[in-house]
Amino acid sequence: MTDAVLEIRGLDVDYGLGDDAVHAIRDVNLTLHRGEVLGLAGESGSGKSTLAYGLTRLLPPPGVVRGGEVLFHTDDGPVDVLRMTEAELRRFRWAETAIVFQGAMNSLNPVQRVSTQLTDVIRAHDPRSTGASRLARARELLSLVGIAADRLDSYPHQLSGGMRQRVMIGMALALEPKVVVMDEPTTALDVVVQRQILRQLVELRERLGFSVVFITHDLSLLVEFSDRIAIMYGGRIVEEASSAQLYREPKHPYSHGLLNSFPALRGPKRELTGIPGSPPDLRAMPSGCSFHPRCPHAMERCGVEVPVLGVPHDHVGPGRTVACWLHPVHDDGF
Ligand code: ATP
Ligand code: MG
Repeated sequence: MTDAVLEIRGLDVDYGLGDDAVHAIRDVNLTLHRGEVLGLAGESGSGKSTLAYGLTRLLPPPGVVRGGEVLFHTDDGPVDVLRMTEAELRRFRWAETAIVFQGAMNSLNPVQRVSTQLTDVIRAHDPRSTGASRLARARELLSLVGIAADRLDSYPHQLSGGMRQRVMIGMALALEPKVVVMDEPTTALDVVVQRQILRQLVELRERLGFSVVFITHDLSLLVEFSDRIAIMYGGRIVEEASSAQLYREPKHPYSHGLLNSFPALRGPKRELTGIPGSPPDLRAMPSGCSFHPRCPHAMERCGVEVPVLGVPHDHVGPGRTVACWLHPVHDDGF
C-alpha cells in the first residue's frame, strides 16, 4: 500500500449549536493514499459533501467542525488542516488540494472567457508569472483535459456540459495539487460523458500522480474507476474496501443494497432491487445502528448498540473495515 497523503481522524461535524445541533458527520476515520482514487458513496444526505467541506475547512455556516484531525502529509511532516492559519489554508486549498464542488460546472463565470478564468487562477498563486506564460499554461491545461486550444476564447455557454466539466477539472489541476476532491462533478451529464470524463481523470492521475477523493451516489461508477471505496450512512463510514472486494463481497447490508440500486456496466448482471425505506432523519437518528430500521438482517442488538468500525475477523490484511453486528471485527485493527 502506498503511503498516506491525507488522514482524517475522528472527524465530527455539526450543523448548528447546542441542543439544536444536527450531527452530520460522526467519528469519521479515513485515509487517502498517494496516487489512489478513493470513492465515497452513500445516499443523499449521508454527509458526503459535508465531509468534503469539513476536510477543506470550507463549511458554510451553520456548519462547525466539532472535533477530530485532518492530517495533510507534507515533505516536512503532517500538518493538521483544522489548525492551519488563514495564509496556510489559502495555499493548501488550491496548491495542495483542489476541490471541484457539486454542480461546479455551473459555477464558471458566464461573462468571462475560459482563458481569463484559467489564467486568473494561475495568477492568484503566482503573481509574478508573465501573461504569456499564464496563457501557455492555460492552453496546456485545456489539452490535458482533451479540449482544443482554440476553445480558450470561448465563453462557458458556448461549451457543452461535458466541456465545462473538463474546464473545471483543468482549473483544479492548474497548480498541480497533490489531492483533488471531486464532489459529484458529473451527475448533470449523461452516463457516457460521465464515464469519459472519469476515465480521463484516472489517466491524468496516473500521469501526474495526484490522489483523488471522488464523491457520488452512483456506486457502479466508483466500482469501475476507484481503487478503494468508503460507504457512508447517516454521517458515518459503514464499510471500506478495495473496489473489487466491495463489488464481489459487500459485507454491510447497506453496501449490498446500494450495489443493487445501480446498473453495472460490466460484470455479471445483478437484479436491481434498491433499498426499502428512506435515509435517516439526522434530527431523529435511530438508536444503535442507524441502518437497522431498513436492514433485512437486523437483530435485537442492532437497535441498541452502535457497531464499531473495524477489520472483519475473516479478512486477512489491512484495507478493509465494516461496522455491522453481522461481522465480528478487530476494533483496534486499523
Ligand atoms: P447529496 O448526495 O444530496 O449531495 P450528501 O451526502 O452530500 O447528499 P450533505 O449535503 O453532506 O449530504 O448533508 C448531510 C446532512 O447534513 C443532511 O442531512 C443535510 O440535511 C444536513 N445539512 C446540510 N447542510 C445543512 C445546513 N446548512 N444546515 C443544516 N443541515 C444541513
Ligand atoms: Mg452532496
